[in-house]
Amino acid sequence: MRKLRVLAVAAVVAVNAAVFSACEVTSDQADTNTGPRLAPVTRQGGRPLRVVATTSQIFDAVRRVGGNRVEVHGLMGPGVDPHLYRASEGDITRLEAADAVFWNGLHLEAGISGVLERITVLGVHSIRVTDDIDRQLLLAPPEFDGAFDPHFWFDLDLWSIAVATIRDALIAMDPEGAESYRANADSFITQVKELDSYVKSRAMEIDVRVRVLVTAHDAFNYFANRYGIEVRGLQGISTEGEASTADVQQLAQFISERGIPAVFIESSVPDQGVQAVIEAAAARGHTVTIGGEIFSDAMGAQGTEEGTYLGMIRHNIDTIVEALARS
Ligand SMILES: [Zn+2]
Repeated sequence: MRKLRVLAVAAVVAVNAAVFSACEVTSDQADTNTGPRLAPVTRQGGRPLRVVATTSQIFDAVRRVGGNRVEVHGLMGPGVDPHLYRASEGDITRLEAADAVFWNGLHLEAGISGVLERITVLGVHSIRVTDDIDRQLLLAPPEFDGAFDPHFWFDLDLWSIAVATIRDALIAMDPEGAESYRANADSFITQVKELDSYVKSRAMEIDVRVRVLVTAHDAFNYFANRYGIEVRGLQGISTEGEASTADVQQLAQFISERGIPAVFIESSVPDQGVQAVIEAAAARGHTVTIGGEIFSDAMGAQGTEEGTYLGMIRHNIDTIVEALARS
């Protein structure tokens, strides 16, 4: 039986690889909310719910809301790039054995979204944490062909909506835990709101002329939008494409003209691109330094402050302000 199921999902993976190369951009928007159809899970012996989360941000939120009623496994660890992630055989086995999988959607997990959608045929609940967000609140940059920017967790208000989606899904699957899930979500959302105010006030410490976040890829548009910071990424919204020499020169020119003192590297993206920009700026007679490493699509190591969602956001804003506000 196990073998057959592995084969079934493997076939699904193969089919999706073909489908997704043809119409990558539209798939996430076509789907409907999976939430209301969620049914209670039978948990023999009162075992915890078995949940898989894709990104480390979602892992952290499920862990916070689920508490000890949920056993959560994160697919993508520190430094892992979700745009490029491919499912291993071990991942498939783990997904098959799970009660539910929580994922971002919006084309973030481009290489495995097919698996995550089709896993429902095996009775696994598949929940996109972005499904309850009003589409008007999502960014859809023109260069992304009408698809949504997936990096919504940098708008802390939108993250609270995702936390509520996780809470509601857990309650639907495990109604007995409702009280606990509500209390955990409330306490987490309160902390997210406090951090939102902190980020807002810290961002204002940077002189508006250099309040520009330059990074390896365009992960910070929501951050920019909410906290009044201009952003420039060398690569686009996905890391799938490569930056050209012209992209490097253009960004170096912008940095030099604006007198930006520091640029930032991302823990999940190689830093060669940013290094090339620094050199190109130097060739134009402008010295720009690396302001530090910030977390975009992955978080820090588990067990560290930056290995939590709240710690990661705090680390990012503190690092950015430290490097840009001293000029
Ligand atoms: Zn990204």
